[in-house]
Amino acid sequence: MEYFFTEQQKMIRDLARRLAEEKVLPVRAELDEKEEFPWEIMKEIAAADLLRVFVPEEYDGLGGGCLDLCLVVEELSRVCSAVAISYAANALGTSALIHFGSDAQKKKFLPQVASGQRLAAFALTEAGAGSDAGAIKTTARRENGQFILNGAKQFITNGGDAEIYLVVALTDPNKGSRGASCILVEKDTPGFTFGKKEKKMGLRASSTRELVFRNCAVPEENLIGKEGMGFIITLKTLDRSRPGVGAQALGIAQGALEAAVDYARERVQFGHPVIAQQAVAHMLADMATSVEAARLLVYAAARTIDSGAKDYTEEAGMAKVFASDVAMKVTTDAVQVFGGAGYMRDYPVEKFMRDAKITQIYEGTNQTIRNAIALELRKRRGRRA
Ligand SMILES: Cc1cc2nc3c(=O)[nH]c(=O)nc-3n(C[C@H](O)[C@H](O)[C@H](O)COP(=O)(O)OP(=O)(O)OC[C@H]3O[C@@H](n4cnc5c(N)ncnc54)[C@H](O)[C@@H]3O)c2cc1C
Repeated sequence: MEYFFTEQQKMIRDLARRLAEEKVLPVRAELDEKEEFPWEIMKEIAAADLLRVFVPEEYDGLGGGCLDLCLVVEELSRVCSAVAISYAANALGTSALIHFGSDAQKKKFLPQVASGQRLAAFALTEAGAGSDAGAIKTTARRENGQFILNGAKQFITNGGDAEIYLVVALTDPNKGSRGASCILVEKDTPGFTFGKKEKKMGLRASSTRELVFRNCAVPEENLIGKEGMGFIITLKTLDRSRPGVGAQALGIAQGALEAAVDYARERVQFGHPVIAQQAVAHMLADMATSVEAARLLVYAAARTIDSGAKDYTEEAGMAKVFASDVAMKVTTDAVQVFGGAGYMRDYPVEKFMRDAKITQIYEGTNQTIRNAIALELRKRRGRRA
């Protein structure tokens, strides 16, 4: 199916697909086994100019929108979503800067991100504040033209490997979530250290670390947007990035589907390829149908954002919830199609299944996003404008 992509979008998609197949596929299993951050691949991605996709043209980017970003994330995830999330978390860490930063901040940092010189990360979650993001405790006290940060962020993707961190902290703890602000913190700032790399079920090559701030002084010009706007910026940032998580789930599901179809055509039992068994063929048909449905929803949500719509919370949330549930089901079924071989690390489907799970959890668990969708339904009884 052709999705009415622009010439630039087709070029970006084809480039990402080629890079994933030629550079990522040969090392995917090794990256997963060694749990090593994919630096060499990130350099290839930068050399192919794919890190420029989501950066505005005036800051050395290609000026692509949410759909362009989703196409890259989908293609990378179709082969290895640990690579894809390292890429996507970089975009997430840059998003607030692009949409709420000053021209001076953008001039200083965005060309470095576009060229791949520096990676970015987004730091909201804390030990006591996951779904309940309003419970964050990290503070950023204003003092002599600086913000002094104290606290810790948990489970931060690209943590330790990124150089630029968009940190959500309380500049006025008395005001609760209305006292939060977004502050850009550079790696190597005194008082800023990292915890150990987390050992994960999936996305094992990507880095996930704790960030620790102890009297970490940051210049006040690193405030992104206005003081007290931290949660508004955070909500907008997550809304914008949720189709990207959907695209990650979509790519994982697509990769698992392709592997399952190939295997079912080759594996012979009872004298025939197992795809000739209707039970298997129908499972594959359902997998293909749900992957296509997820694709339509992810692309539609991304297009809604790119159209300049003011409110896209629901579309973005629905795309993320639907695609991630599809990814979990499709990858589980792919393992089933492979039989015992699917359970072995020699084949890619067990990795797809391990990688799929996180898409139901991060950037808002599917339960909390369903809460938000349900809240909207209560307001307008399911009717859309
Ligand atoms: C690999 C990985 C990478 C991550 N990367 C980042 C990152 O780069 N930056 C960042 O800031 N964070 C990151 N996170 C954190 C992630 O966004 C959180 O883990 C997620 O938001 C869930 O929070 P929690 O883990 O504290 O779960 P909890 O909030 O403790 O939830 C536990 C369970 O309770 C349910 N629950 C909680 N509240 C409700 C409710 N109101 N209604 C219904 N159900 C509810 C949840 O759905 C879940 O099933 C990452 C996490 C992982 C695992």
